[in-house]
Amino acid sequence: MIYLKTDDEIELLRKANLLVSATLCEIAKIVEPGVTTRQLDTLAEQFIRDHGAVPTFKGFPNPYGDPFPASICTSVNEVVVHGIPDDTPLKDGDIVSVDCGTFIDGFCGDSCYTFCVGEVKQEVLDLLAATKQSLYLGIEQAIAGHRLGDIGYAVQTHCEKLGYGVVREFVGHGIGHEMHEDPQVPNYGKQGTGKQLKNGLCIAIEPMITLGSHELLMLPDHWGVVTRDGSPAAHFEHTIAIHHGKADILSSFEEIEKIERQKN
Ligand code: MG
Ligand code: MG
Repeated sequence: MIYLKTDDEIELLRKANLLVSATLCEIAKIVEPGVTTRQLDTLAEQFIRDHGAVPTFKGFPNPYGDPFPASICTSVNEVVVHGIPDDTPLKDGDIVSVDCGTFIDGFCGDSCYTFCVGEVKQEVLDLLAATKQSLYLGIEQAIAGHRLGDIGYAVQTHCEKLGYGVVREFVGHGIGHEMHEDPQVPNYGKQGTGKQLKNGLCIAIEPMITLGSHELLMLPDHWGVVTRDGSPAAHFEHTIAIHHGKADILSSFEEIEKIERQKN
């Protein structure tokens, strides 16, 4: 069942999501060759708890009932989603998607950003730019009266016209008291199809886009998902509310992008 949010609830969702954005910003400051994803996780968990929130990912069960062991997902290169932080140092030329969730005042935040580690190949930079662009094209379609398929169509057509793969098995979702609520928000679809978008609908839109084929494999840890062909994948996610007819982006990349520009 889809649960539409009131204005007050949207503000609480904004608070949870801005805390995710602030956490990703702390990560942006320290991502560089030699840093381990476990260090990113430790920083994120501390930062989230210092702000009176709980990292929603920690302990979240997969279909096998295994609890996720960390506070963020760190998906490096060919890992598409749900990578478990570990002690492997990031290398120059890697990319790492950091997906983060918070729970505070009864509401969830959920956002993801793919970071570059040192100098990244141009073809991978282009993949990142196109994935982020497709997220904003999807968000542009998230207006009252449109349908869910309009969002997926915008993401899919942009990425496929550039020759990229659009992941099918993982999708965006409604968000509120729960991290994953109805409806599902696929990154593919047909215009004018699916549920109609209404004021108060709060959803996470999260294109997962690959440089090669969109086919996936599950890692033996039952969490990490990699591209079958080993090609790199990008993942950008915003939580939005449909508010006064249009998309109100509740998370923010603004400060993260400022830090990224200072690094270059
Ligand atoms: Mg997420
Ligand atoms: Mg999500």
